[in-house]
Amino acid sequence: MGPGPINAYPQVLRAMSTQLLGQFDPQFRRYMAETSALYRRVFQTRNRQTLMVDGTARAGIEAALVSLVEPGDRVLVPVFGRFGHLLAEIASRCGADVRTIETPWGTVFEPEAIERAVRKHRPKLVALCQGDTSTTMAQPLAEIGRICSRHGALSYVDATATLGGMPLPVDRWSLDVVSAGLQKCLGGPSGIAPMTIGDRAAKAIRRRRHIEQGLQQKGYRPGAGRRIQSNYFDLAMIMDYWSEQALNHHTEATTMLYAARECGRLLVKEGLRHAHARHAEASRTLAAGLRGLGLAPYGDQRHKMPNVTGVWIPKGVDGERVRARMLARHNIEIGTSFGPLHGKIWRIGTMGANARRAPVLRTLRALEAVLRSEKGYRLA
Ligand SMILES: *Cc1c(COP(=O)(O)O)cnc(C)c1O
Repeated sequence: MGPGPINAYPQVLRAMSTQLLGQFDPQFRRYMAETSALYRRVFQTRNRQTLMVDGTARAGIEAALVSLVEPGDRVLVPVFGRFGHLLAEIASRCGADVRTIETPWGTVFEPEAIERAVRKHRPKLVALCQGDTSTTMAQPLAEIGRICSRHGALSYVDATATLGGMPLPVDRWSLDVVSAGLQKCLGGPSGIAPMTIGDRAAKAIRRRRHIEQGLQQKGYRPGAGRRIQSNYFDLAMIMDYWSEQALNHHTEATTMLYAARECGRLLVKEGLRHAHARHAEASRTLAAGLRGLGLAPYGDQRHKMPNVTGVWIPKGVDGERVRARMLARHNIEIGTSFGPLHGKIWRIGTMGANARRAPVLRTLRALEAVLRSEKGYRLA
């Protein structure tokens, strides 16, 4: 019941015990195509370039940023938690001229504030999180894509924490590139990053297409743009690898693709709307139960993520001891947070299979029992 990674769906674990296939096996190419099609539905997009980057969610972030950002390009990052700082850091490692705007942890940005910053800094790319698990806040994104395109900027969204847990209609919101991981609401293991790339962004990436020398065929013309600094995260080559042409790049992590396919299949079978409602309902039940234990919710409740709940650790209670006892006595993991919030709040996830009434009630009962053994705890 932490903020991720979470326990995987048993069907996903079963899919991962399937025999390996190489990435050129015709059956495996069909699995890849099916996975693309499933994730078009998960991302609610028609983007042709909907694919997987091998590696944890961060691999998706690095691939997006290194492929979109040329050294010297300006990138604007609205930071509302730890993962916003991470986006700024990765963009700066890509050589970007990074500009950030910040809002206090526990709050999010008004779209107008982001538009003012876009107008002021004129970035090539705006990169931000949908949900920043460190603060449990979700940034409303409905207007952000259009703000970016109005000012000639591309948008990138890290939706690792939220995909499958709350709405993210990529096309309706005109977002250019979005990436995620499996280990949060999708109920899979970490190790592969689903990603969708809109046409505008794909064109910008193709301008930088420089195929490895040993793979070049007759008639090959490199793109006019600067070569992408990373080979592994070169989305121009990864798009070619996922295309019908199946140009060789890395050896596919086929077991992870089985996992991604099964996570996508389960979500599509359940229905996005149902899955989102289930996460919201579990989160409401948890929040009500925590209030019943006399605990105060953390952050601006209007913008709380529906799949992670932040709660203040009461005065006189040892937060780490409570976490250790939850695990040792009840086999339940809950999280603390990072940086300025470390030891100040707990973060309790309701994601994937845990976004259900039974695990939520079990967690509340366990937390109550553990809190009662804390001398400093008084139920108000
Ligand atoms: C959990 C999380 C990640 C995790 O990245 P990994 O590389 O898979 O560890 C990234 N971004 C956000 C917003 C997250 O919540």
